[in-house]
Amino acid sequence: MNIVILLGAPGSGKGTVASRLAAENSNLKHVSSGDLLRGAVAKGTAAGVEAKEYMEAGKLVPDTLIAKMIGDVVAETVGDMTMLLDGFPRNVAQADILAETAKASGATIKSAVLLDVPDEVIFDRIAGRRTCPKCKAGYHVTNLPPKVEGICDQCGAELTIRKDDNPDTVKDRLAVYHAQTEPLIEYYEKAGLLRKINGLGDTAEIASNFLSAM
Ligand code: AMP
Repeated sequence: MNIVILLGAPGSGKGTVASRLAAENSNLKHVSSGDLLRGAVAKGTAAGVEAKEYMEAGKLVPDTLIAKMIGDVVAETVGDMTMLLDGFPRNVAQADILAETAKASGATIKSAVLLDVPDEVIFDRIAGRRTCPKCKAGYHVTNLPPKVEGICDQCGAELTIRKDDNPDTVKDRLAVYHAQTEPLIEYYEKAGLLRKINGLGDTAEIASNFLSAM
């Protein structure tokens, strides 16, 4: 199995690009650490109960908690798939854990693709973000609107705004990104795995550039 890491700030479009590519290519699998955690919170599992407070505050959940979830998905993914890993790793300790997990399961980390988006654009993007609680499809009120306002195109459920998408929490999440996640750019550059693409513009074009870069 191959692993492609998506790097970029919250709201840079990692989830949108990865879910689009996975829908269009049967050998690509989108794995979002945020979705795994939100699923655990919704189910009320022990991990979900532990993660909830951190997530609502815009802080990172403990490394071991999320690493275990990602490790389980890596273990159950079949050999000829390429995993698009969105939201993990979020710091250098998690990147080291991922390197170990990949090695132990015979997976190869192919690249880490950075979606480059300036901070001022992030606020707008997150403010307009809407998510389907049922099938996890993502929308944006102006950039990627659903056909019927407030309703998921794919499953008809009512779209929601994520609790941690409020302006104060977004500020905290961006601060966490700059302090803890940004060092991964240098980490993967040193490993010769970093690719950078422009995260602004048309989603189809970004997805196509991503596919070429990975
Ligand atoms: P996301 O959907 O990727 O923006 O993640 C939402 C929230 O889940 C983050 O603000 C963190 O609280 C938590 N989270 C997601 N991925 C990780 C990770 N790799 N390490 C720690 N916390 C994470």
